[in-house]
Amino acid sequence: MERKKFLRYLALSPLIPLAMKLNALKEITNDFEPTEKMPALFIGHGTPMNAIEDNRFTREMKARGKAIRTPKAILMVSAHWETKGSLLTKQELPPTIHDFGGFPKKLFEVQYPAKGSPWLAGETQKLALDHHVDLNDQWGFDHGAWSVAINMFPEANIPMIQLSLDTNKKPFEHYELARELKALREKGVLVVGSGNMVHSFRYAEMNGPDFNASHGHDWAWEANDIFKKKIEANAYDELADYTKLGEAVQKAVPSTEHYLPMLYALAMREEKDKLEFFNDDAVGGSFTMTSFQIG
Ligand code: ZN
Repeated sequence: MERKKFLRYLALSPLIPLAMKLNALKEITNDFEPTEKMPALFIGHGTPMNAIEDNRFTREMKARGKAIRTPKAILMVSAHWETKGSLLTKQELPPTIHDFGGFPKKLFEVQYPAKGSPWLAGETQKLALDHHVDLNDQWGFDHGAWSVAINMFPEANIPMIQLSLDTNKKPFEHYELARELKALREKGVLVVGSGNMVHSFRYAEMNGPDFNASHGHDWAWEANDIFKKKIEANAYDELADYTKLGEAVQKAVPSTEHYLPMLYALAMREEKDKLEFFNDDAVGGSFTMTSFQIG
């Protein structure tokens, strides 16, 4: 091959970004030894009260936190941080953000004092070669992040960084970005998506005084079933193209922010990974707590 052609071949070759990724990963290796592959999780977070309530959902979150190997760090993707462009928290000590209103004082008093990891934020940024990610020190841990983390890791002794949801990206681009980060699983990093696959305030309906009592509209159950089947089949392209999944799904996903964290978790999946659903239930008529663990 002529030199010119060869250089052009190199420039176009998909092997180049891969080599760069392997380099980026090597740098992570310096501080984070390779580990057995960590699982990845999508957690339905539901009401912020789950941060302080003892119920069947929070008991399951606690059990999962205990059962998995202690992560070296957590990469959290929460429904509650939407930005222009993808951002990663880079503070040493991210603040606990109480991004809600109308809840009891004791929920506002909750602190989740886990450290951040500016270093891991930088390394994660390097892994995302095809998607520009910026570092940010204006956020912290929002309730989508800490209401889950406080159940799974109540001692707050594992460094955690948060990745925002870029409102400019299409769902499939979120999946592709997440896919670039899957190597973090081999470095002891637990990737957690925190949202709710079925999430619509418009059709919310209390069934007695307990918000967490099992209660879903027919379409909510139908959408839940569709999502589970597509997740099981790893049909990420259909899930990214969710607007084509019928009327029940249209009602279930009136906006993307609680749905997209699921795609980040699913993107961590490799063929051999086992997949397990838990907290598979609907509450308040139009929300599902359905969660899954990969690996
Ligand atoms: Zn939420």
